[in-house]
Amino acid sequence: MAHDEKKISREEQEVIALEARRIEAESRLAQLKLQMAELELEDLTARVEERREKKAALEARAAAAQRSLEQANADIIASQKVCRHKKGGRNKAGLVNGSDNYYSVNKHTYSHGETVVFCTRCTQEWRMPKQPNPELKKQDPAAWKLAVAEFKKQLAEYREALNWPTDNEPSGTALFTFGKMDPATAAELAL
Ligand SMILES: [Zn+2]
Repeated sequence: MAHDEKKISREEQEVIALEARRIEAESRLAQLKLQMAELELEDLTARVEERREKKAALEARAAAAQRSLEQANADIIASQKVCRHKKGGRNKAGLVNGSDNYYSVNKHTYSHGETVVFCTRCTQEWRMPKQPNPELKKQDPAAWKLAVAEFKKQLAEYREALNWPTDNEPSGTALFTFGKMDPATAAELAL
């Protein structure tokens, strides 16, 4: 009897030992998996952080570019307001002090016949304004009146710019034409 008990006990001990090794191996594996998961989490966190920084840097650069664009536009508009479009004077001071008899403008005629005048100092452009749509006269007489007034104002400015004396050679591929307009619209506008 004692012998049997001892034998069973030894088998049991082997089973227990095997079970213990199995449990230990399982626990080791679980530990390694946990470490791996921690590393992956670290990687992910680092990547998220890196992308966040990249995005913030891009946003900052875009905002800076936007600000300098707005500043540049504001500078151009400000210089166009003070510019006399005349030659004479130097650099920025010349914008307001240009006192030459000649204007600092170039006249360029495109192949479709349109002549554009632009100031070489402040980059302002004068071109044939778009004629108001005659349909507007029936649809909204008040808006039509405003559109005609604005058109006439721009046309007068354009014609004035076209007549400014300059010693700059006109450029372009087409003959110089004086703001072509269809006769019906011209009559409508009483020009
Ligand atoms: Zn100018």
